[in-house]
Amino acid sequence: MAQAYETAGHYTAHPLVEGFPGKSTTHGAFGWSSLWLLDDGARRVLIDAGQPAYIPLIHESLERLGLTTADVTDIVLTHMHWDHVANFTMFPNAVTWVGEHELKWAAERPAGTQFIPDLHVQELIRRKERVERMSPGQEILPGIHAIAAPGHTPHHLAFFTERAARPLLFAGDSVKNIHELATARVDSTMDADASTRTIHRLRSLLTETSATLLPGHDVGLNLINGEVQRLREQRAQISFFADALSPESDRSIG
Ligand SMILES: [Zn+2]
Repeated sequence: MAQAYETAGHYTAHPLVEGFPGKSTTHGAFGWSSLWLLDDGARRVLIDAGQPAYIPLIHESLERLGLTTADVTDIVLTHMHWDHVANFTMFPNAVTWVGEHELKWAAERPAGTQFIPDLHVQELIRRKERVERMSPGQEILPGIHAIAAPGHTPHHLAFFTERAARPLLFAGDSVKNIHELATARVDSTMDADASTRTIHRLRSLLTETSATLLPGHDVGLNLINGEVQRLREQRAQISFFADALSPESDRSIG
């Protein structure tokens, strides 16, 4: 099972669910996004909240770390797409950090807009407590900086911290996978030129700081001498319900 990347010192990064760059050509997006926990002993910060199918995986991953949903202190959202936002409601003590401009933009979309979970957006607007608005350039939590990363959505944010054994750059869907970091060309963006400019900026930051980049839908990536490397193999599996039935099972329908 997944292990923490590097530890010691400040924040330790644990993947609660590792993202996977799968794509369905017939049934919409998989939404297999990355869900990371940063833990410095005092705060437990989720980077994005994942999609509804992740609920049991989140419970299992937290339990392996000796934690529950009540121990999460903060959730920081990269952007307002359903597969990154949906589970913010399951952490009773957490403050949810949402980009001020991204939230406003999402709230102006009509219900039925692709990827926008309209009820979650309304709830973030409605809540008077435990929701904080943030802006690019802000140090939102000790050592965690919000960075503008537009393109995929107009006000997408990335998060950078040097308070880790190796600096970490959480890119969300501004860099969804290894291919996008390597080529600076992206799939699924609202502004392809902005996405390319964002990726060039994030690549510069990686080079300057030797940070590891955590994409929105892939395992961690390092940029070494201009070459992008995965920190570990990516894994995913899908199966058919009938696979779970034994050969002896009666599959007839009366
Ligand atoms: Zn997205």
